[in-house]
Amino acid sequence: MTFRNEPLLDFSRQENRARFAESLKDVRRKFGSDYPLWIAGEKLETKKWCDSINPAAPEEIVGRVPAAGRTEADQAVIHATEHFPEWAATPANERAKFLFRAAEIMRSRRLELAAWELFEVGKGWREADADVAEAIDYLEYYGQEMLRLSEPRVTQKLPGESNVYVYEPRGLAVVIAPWNFPLAILAGMTAAALVTGNCAIVKPAEQSPVTGALLVEILREAGVPESACQLLQGGGELGAYVVRHSAVHLIAFTGSRDVGLEILRTAYDRQPGQEHVKRVVCEMGGKNAIIVDQDADLDEAVVHILESAFGYQGQKCSAASRLILVDEIHDLLLDRLIEAVRSLKIGPPEDPRNFIGPVIDAAAHAKIMSYVDLGKWEGRCVLEREAPTKGFFVGPTIFSEVQPEHRLANEEIFGPVLAALKAKDFNHALQIANRSAYALTGGVFSRSPAHIEKARREFRVGNLYINRGITGAIVERQPFGGLKLSGIGSKAGGPDYLLQFLEPRTISENTLRHGFVPPEELKH
Ligand code: NAD
Repeated sequence: MTFRNEPLLDFSRQENRARFAESLKDVRRKFGSDYPLWIAGEKLETKKWCDSINPAAPEEIVGRVPAAGRTEADQAVIHATEHFPEWAATPANERAKFLFRAAEIMRSRRLELAAWELFEVGKGWREADADVAEAIDYLEYYGQEMLRLSEPRVTQKLPGESNVYVYEPRGLAVVIAPWNFPLAILAGMTAAALVTGNCAIVKPAEQSPVTGALLVEILREAGVPESACQLLQGGGELGAYVVRHSAVHLIAFTGSRDVGLEILRTAYDRQPGQEHVKRVVCEMGGKNAIIVDQDADLDEAVVHILESAFGYQGQKCSAASRLILVDEIHDLLLDRLIEAVRSLKIGPPEDPRNFIGPVIDAAAHAKIMSYVDLGKWEGRCVLEREAPTKGFFVGPTIFSEVQPEHRLANEEIFGPVLAALKAKDFNHALQIANRSAYALTGGVFSRSPAHIEKARREFRVGNLYINRGITGAIVERQPFGGLKLSGIGSKAGGPDYLLQFLEPRTISENTLRHGFVPPEELKH
């Protein structure tokens, strides 16, 4: 079996545009529906309901979900624990088949899923489609990876002794996801947990619960048993409760640095009755830099910087938020970039002409605006585009004269705000880039082979991109994940990822005959 990435939809074709516009209308008609929790075989409701809203028009309720409390979390844990031996004993190829089937269902519902994302988290057409394609990739890729890993490996061939190395599931996995890739990241972590034989409790982000509910619906439809994959909806308090639970073996988390560090701290704290050390897969934030060298192709650089910094409103963990410009080209590049960003259209993502959509919610809006205010103190505001006041819109903003020690150059803003820093030369630019405590993605635009080679060696980031944009990692092609405070996991979409969800065991057997088998055993 060869893995192939799911191709993206070509929206330059009229029929694709028409089909997607139709899906948007269909999904709109389903706004405001209820999506219960799924615990074992039951669809459950609770007394407290939470609205998922359209960030481009916050008065529109995309869907409603019941908030799970401790009672529901405990129930899910009990069912998962009881079911674990059966799920773990299901052959790996059958578990993989469930993922392949789920991928097939996603393909058949592709436009609908993208439409839900557009409304629930404010993604543009291409971004929403790419997220669904990535989710399909994870299902296919991890399914195939598990087929590879499930073969017992003979460590060494010795006469008279067999030595094999096998992988086993860990137990109960809790999946805690962010909202910014609401299907792909959730599907990736859940698929990894399930295909390796762990029971999964899935907790989507509170901002994207409908997309989360749709994922679990698809997995169930694909045949994943009820207690192997359960759905809890809620926020940080619920997440923290399940992380602490003594029956949980593994936490697969993607989200912010502060929450990730908190999860690491509490997960390693042994709870009464807990007889294992929890494993935490923890992917966190970034403060990603693009360096532009003096000999770079500036036309090319501008296009990619614009996409990397402002695509999906800068709300990608991989987004560029620091632009480090070598002195010679500083003014020229900045002028060109400012003009390019001035041309971007801002407005609801339903209209495909809009490049800049809303940020996720009121809290994000307030946080980003506070950084815009701070930027005016720390640096020089060279562009602040006006944005619609209805909905959570922030106009793309660029600051120059930012210094490496400024907060603007060190803290993750997660919005369409770019801080430009000036470097004396390429070496200085690299030094500035590496100052960050985060180390997720990074980019270099240069025509100098020596500088490119130096960046390969010394630019300390998990994903380095040379003469291209720094977002949009593709499953298998660019396994994704950071260093330093950006994460401690093996890379998502890469060959080591599933190993984190497994426990290796070595089994050695003396195969020389030792006397005779007792006659009564021979009878059986
Ligand atoms: P977040 O950390 O606020 O929330 C992520 C998830 O954690 C949510 O489901 C939330 O409910 C849950 N949570 C919150 N507090 C918790 C607690 N105390 N215990 C357990 N769970 C808790 O992040 P977000 O705003 O949803 O996502 C944006 C962040 O995610 C950014 O920092 C971004 O860089 C990061 N991110 C990283 C990657 C990556 O691959 N490294 C990918 C996407 C997003």
